[in-house]
Amino acid sequence: MPTYTPPIRDMQFVLHELLGMTEELKAMPAHAELDIDTINAVLEEAGKFAAEVTFPLNISGDEAGCTLDKQTHEVRAPQGFKEAYAQFVEGGWPALSCDPDHGGQGLPLTLNQCLYEMLNSANQAWTMYPGLTHGAYECLHAHGTPEQKATYLPKLTSGEWTGTMCLTESHCGTDLGLLRSKAEPIAGAEGSYRITGSKIFISSGDHDLAANIVHLVLARLPDAPAGSKGISLFAVPKFLVNADGSLGDRNPIYCTGLEHKMGIHGNATAQISLDGAVGTLVGQPHKGLAAMFVMMNAARLGVGVQSLGLTEVAYQNAVAYAKDRLQMRSLTGPKAPDKPADPIIVHPDVRKMLLTARAYAEGGRALAIYTALLIDRELSHPDEDVRQDAADQVALLTPIVKAFLTDNAWLATSHCMQVYGGHGYIKEWGMEQYVRDARINMIYEGTNTIQSLDLLGRKVLGDNGAKLKKFGKLIAQFVEDEGVDEAMQEFVNPLADLGDKVTKLTTELGMKGFGNADEVGAAAVDYLRVVGHLVFAYFFARSARIALARQGSGDPFYTAKLATARFYFSKLLPETAGLIRTARSGATPLMAMDEALF
Ligand SMILES: Cc1cc2nc3c(=O)[nH]c(=O)nc-3n(C[C@H](O)[C@H](O)[C@H](O)COP(=O)(O)OP(=O)(O)OC[C@H]3O[C@@H](n4cnc5c(N)ncnc54)[C@H](O)[C@@H]3O)c2cc1C
Repeated sequence: MPTYTPPIRDMQFVLHELLGMTEELKAMPAHAELDIDTINAVLEEAGKFAAEVTFPLNISGDEAGCTLDKQTHEVRAPQGFKEAYAQFVEGGWPALSCDPDHGGQGLPLTLNQCLYEMLNSANQAWTMYPGLTHGAYECLHAHGTPEQKATYLPKLTSGEWTGTMCLTESHCGTDLGLLRSKAEPIAGAEGSYRITGSKIFISSGDHDLAANIVHLVLARLPDAPAGSKGISLFAVPKFLVNADGSLGDRNPIYCTGLEHKMGIHGNATAQISLDGAVGTLVGQPHKGLAAMFVMMNAARLGVGVQSLGLTEVAYQNAVAYAKDRLQMRSLTGPKAPDKPADPIIVHPDVRKMLLTARAYAEGGRALAIYTALLIDRELSHPDEDVRQDAADQVALLTPIVKAFLTDNAWLATSHCMQVYGGHGYIKEWGMEQYVRDARINMIYEGTNTIQSLDLLGRKVLGDNGAKLKKFGKLIAQFVEDEGVDEAMQEFVNPLADLGDKVTKLTTELGMKGFGNADEVGAAAVDYLRVVGHLVFAYFFARSARIALARQGSGDPFYTAKLATARFYFSKLLPETAGLIRTARSGATPLMAMDEALF
């Protein structure tokens, strides 16, 4: 059976030593008083909840899955999920980073993200119920009318009600411009519509955890232009809400089927039918995608953090197994002569698999927390220029968090399964579940290909590299500051070298893309991975500098941090050489073959 220990020490390292969170928060009036002790206390309690309440339900939830009563259209989550959710609500966790005006605790989003990393390590399927709710909260907070905010935000903040995002239809997922669901205005009820259509793959689409579910649904108004410019967003509650806030009639938005799927069995992936369900318009008519993007961006970061959580828990268990499992002798002679064989952790390739997962977890944590802190800056800093700068960095980093962390988790969980040999493939050890659960993260919330096109096409080439240059300046400054230090050469030199290569590659792809847009499509996935490594290299180099300065303290944490950074630079970063070559090799090898020959 797997175990899970919340990685509080590494979170504290990133928050306090790498990013200086409390210093940064001092510039934000809403968070200026937050101190290190309070932050650490929240992390400890959050870790306890994850490890003690939801982690024990991970395997049983996977085995039981969700059930649908076809007569009533009601879905039941696996046994124990409802009670765990009640504890979550009672503990005030859904409100952690929500607006105090709507009953929230007003803590930084960064802390909420640390909570979610641990919840995802413990049980990704369960965590998707409150996770999507927080995304719906953010969308309505940004775009809701005063009435919608008054009706929904306090309930989403407390967690009494949950949320979903209803975008996908059977014929369209990536290309939402094709969607067909319709919204007809209700005569005499301004702002209200009857919505008809079918959605598929809706996560947490129905369940028994909460009294009501607020579905955020994309549909077309009668006069809507074709394509993505004709999509509007609606808040459609499962139960209509009376003027006094009590629950009214059942709205005809029903779960008609549950998907049978590879992983996250404990989360209800619902087919949803809307039979004239009543909803209210969120944001402007035909501008629904822009409003929905608030939720989609939050969810993209959330998906990256799902994968970070899985990488961490898979790593922890693979290490424990590798220290315990005895097979063969070390190539350099017995390391445990008193035993019939050595533990497999003596073998170089087993170490490579473990260290790969460890480096992906630590690099991913640094990047994800850095991005969350940027969002706090964007939301709460008094200086508009600082807020804009933070928003630009978040825009650049969001597709990287989503795609790089989820691709890495797929590799990491697979490596960790490999460490178990045949036992990794067998259910009782729990490792194969992590591999299965990790796979969806590369697909939903915009596939990783779409994230790559977003990064290279929109975020980088779309503004002539301005956002990338901003991040590049941080790297250049670090290189300038640390380049003189002999001990930092092993980190600074490859970082500076990769920075130069990314600049050249970006220019080259921009030129090629002018002549033929397929050149961008052909290079985008490799390009995102290269830039992902550049960002990781920057954080590992910064971490190494701290570890070098503090390794004399006797705290083995810094020795391990340095060893992980060295492993990263020598064994993982060099992957960029091959990726740059394939990115540069262009579209012709992909497009030359006639479709009929496939
Ligand atoms: C378990 C699960 C949970 C989900 N949860 C939700 C949810 O809560 N709400 C919701 O609305 N949806 C949800 N989805 C849907 C999910 O977001 C979509 O499946 C995903 O966005 C891909 O859409 P699609 O399946 O239609 O694939 P398609 O759009 O048909 O894509 C097929 C392939 O073509 C590629 N492709 C498409 N267009 C391009 C392009 N322009 N360039 C290059 N490649 C391209 C894609 O990358 C992909 O590899 C969920 C799906 C699953 C399986």
